[in-house]
Amino acid sequence: MASTERVFVGLGANLGDAQGALAEAIAAIAAWPGTRLVAASSMYGSAPVDAQGPDFVNAAIELSTTLEPQALLQALQRLEMAQGRQRPYRHAPRTLDLDLLLYGQRQIDTAELAVPHPRLHERAFVLQPLLELAPDLVHPRLGLLSDWARKVAGQPVWRLP
Ligand code: ADP
Ligand code: MG
Repeated sequence: MASTERVFVGLGANLGDAQGALAEAIAAIAAWPGTRLVAASSMYGSAPVDAQGPDFVNAAIELSTTLEPQALLQALQRLEMAQGRQRPYRHAPRTLDLDLLLYGQRQIDTAELAVPHPRLHERAFVLQPLLELAPDLVHPRLGLLSDWARKVAGQPVWRLP
């Protein structure tokens, strides 16, 4: 049986057909065995933060899954690779970036995996799609994420048609 914990994944891309890459990734995740796509946010545009190149397309999805966090991260990384992501240098432009944002109220801090994602509360391009899906979402250490979204309201993020 799938866990009852609410799992959220953030998606981003800023190379090539970024909206197409995100749509394909969401469809692929929805087809994973033991995983159900609960909801997908709108797509958003954002200017690069700590990154290079063209504007980003961002979105968030909610999953219900039997995959434990570590296995979920590996599955997300396989999908990034399948979409031809390369990592020539840190924060390079990317065809697809998949981040495990929240896994219920779990807190994980290993070399490969930090949950909640350590920078999610500082980034409007993460918070805006996330709060579209779950306006009352609570971070296990930081509380209501809508309070954090107000602090980064100056970062430009726009909803795409
Ligand atoms: P970023 O998403 O910060 O731009 P990368 O996508 O290149 O950077 O990820 C770098 C590493 O971050 C990955 O190898 C992965 O092991 C690690 N990582 C730690 N926590 C997470 C998480 N919650 N979601 C995704 N990757 C994570
Ligand atoms: Mg990433």
